[in-house]
Amino acid sequence: MSERTTTAERRLLRGARLPDGTAADVLVADGVIAGLGTGLSAADATVIDAEGLLLMPGLVDLHTHLREPGFEQSETVLSGTRAAAAGGYTTVFAMANTSPVADTAGVVEQVLRLGETAGYATVQPIGAVTVGLEGRQLAELGAMAASRARVRVFSDDGRCVSDPLLMRRALEYVKAFGGVIAQHSQDPRLTEDAQMNEGALSGELGLAGWPAVAEESIIARDALLAEHVGSRLHVCHLSTAGSVDVVRWAKARGIAVTAEVTPHHLLLDEELVVGYDARYKVNPPLRRREDVLALREALADGTIDIVATDHAPHAAEAKDCEWAAAAFGMVGLESALSVVHAAVVEQGLLDWTDVARVMSVAPARIGGVAAPELREGAPADLTLYDPAASRVFDTGELAGKSRNSPYLGMTLPGRIVATFHAGCPTVLDGEVLAEEEVAARTAARGEGR
Ligand SMILES: [Zn+2]
Ligand SMILES: [Zn+2]
Repeated sequence: MSERTTTAERRLLRGARLPDGTAADVLVADGVIAGLGTGLSAADATVIDAEGLLLMPGLVDLHTHLREPGFEQSETVLSGTRAAAAGGYTTVFAMANTSPVADTAGVVEQVLRLGETAGYATVQPIGAVTVGLEGRQLAELGAMAASRARVRVFSDDGRCVSDPLLMRRALEYVKAFGGVIAQHSQDPRLTEDAQMNEGALSGELGLAGWPAVAEESIIARDALLAEHVGSRLHVCHLSTAGSVDVVRWAKARGIAVTAEVTPHHLLLDEELVVGYDARYKVNPPLRRREDVLALREALADGTIDIVATDHAPHAAEAKDCEWAAAAFGMVGLESALSVVHAAVVEQGLLDWTDVARVMSVAPARIGGVAAPELREGAPADLTLYDPAASRVFDTGELAGKSRNSPYLGMTLPGRIVATFHAGCPTVLDGEVLAEEEVAARTAARGEGR
C-alpha cells in the first residue's frame, strides 16, 4: 500500500451509538477523530454503517503477558497485539516476566520497539520491581522510568514481592516519577504447591488448596505500606470477597490503592475444576460463586477500578497434560469485552459508560498514559462492537499463538466489528487485518516516540 493512499484514507462511521446511548457519525482521518456529530458529510470517505453498533474508546489492558523476549513459542509482541486488536484493545501493558526479565532500560525499550513495528496496538512495557523477579534487590526502576519506554508501572507479576522491606523501598522509589507498584498479592509460603481454591471442593478433589487469606493478607500489608510511605499501590487480579473488603477498607481510609479484576474471575468459579481440565487452571485460582458475585458488586460500586485480562498464553504442551503438571493461566484478550458483557452488563450491574471507564479510561489513568477519548481532535483509538450479536466462541476467534481459552465452546454475547489504532484499522468486518497491511500503515504514519 502506497503512502499516498494511506494518508488519504478517511472513514466515516455512520450512526454509531456512543456509550451514553446517543447516536453520532464519526469521521476518522489523519489518525484522529476528525469529526464527531450528526449528519457528517461522507465526501472522500469510506462509509462504515455503524447503525446499532456501540462505539467505545479503544480498550486498554493494564495486565497482558506478551511472552517476548524468551517464550516466543507461546506468544510474541506481534501475535499478542494481534489478539489485542481482535478483542478491541488499542493499548496493552506488557508484563515483565519475560526472558530476559524486563528489569532494565534495554529490555523495556526492546519490547516498546517490537510493539511499534507490529502496529496492532500501543505496547506500554511494565518494568520488574526486582532484578530477575528474584525478590532480592530492586531493579533499575529509575532508568526504566527515564528510558524511551517511559515506564510507570512496575510489577514482579507471576511472583509476589513478598519481602516487606523491598516492597516499602519500591513504593518509596516510584513516588519520584509518579509510578505505581502493581502487586501479584499472594503469600508464597501460604500457597506452596497450591493447585486450586482452598475449601470443601479442594478437599473432595484431593488438590492442595490456595487459601483466600494468602491474597488478603498481602493486600492489607501493602495497603498499609503504601499509606506509611505515601505512595500508590495497584492490586492485580483480585479474586476473593475478602480482598474486596480489604480494598474497600483501604479506600475508605484514604489510601492510594487501585484494584483490578479479570474477566474470568467475574464469570467462572471453582466448580469448573471438577473435570480436571487444565484450561481452568489459573493464578489466582477460580474461587467460589459467592466470591464471583462479590467481585461483580465491587466493580459496580467502584471498589474495584478496572478490568484487566491477565492474558497468559501457553503453548499446547504446557496445558495438555495432567492438572498438577499444567501451567497456570488463560488467554483473555479476544474474549474480554464479551465476557464482561455477559458477567456484568447483562446482569444490569454496569452500563456501557461504566464499561468504557473500567476497560479504557481508568486503566490508562492508572498506568500513566493518555486515555482514549471520544472527542474531535483526539487520536482515533476506537472499538466498534455489536452488542446484539452472539456466537459460540471457538478457536477461530483466537488471534494470538496459544489456544488456552476457558471459553471455547461457550456462547458469548457481542462481537468486535472494527478496531482502529491511531486511526488505522486493525480489525474490519470482524476480521483482523494482515500483519503486512497493519505494519505498512503504521510505517506510513511515521509513528514513533
Ligand atoms: Zn499475577
Ligand atoms: Zn499476570
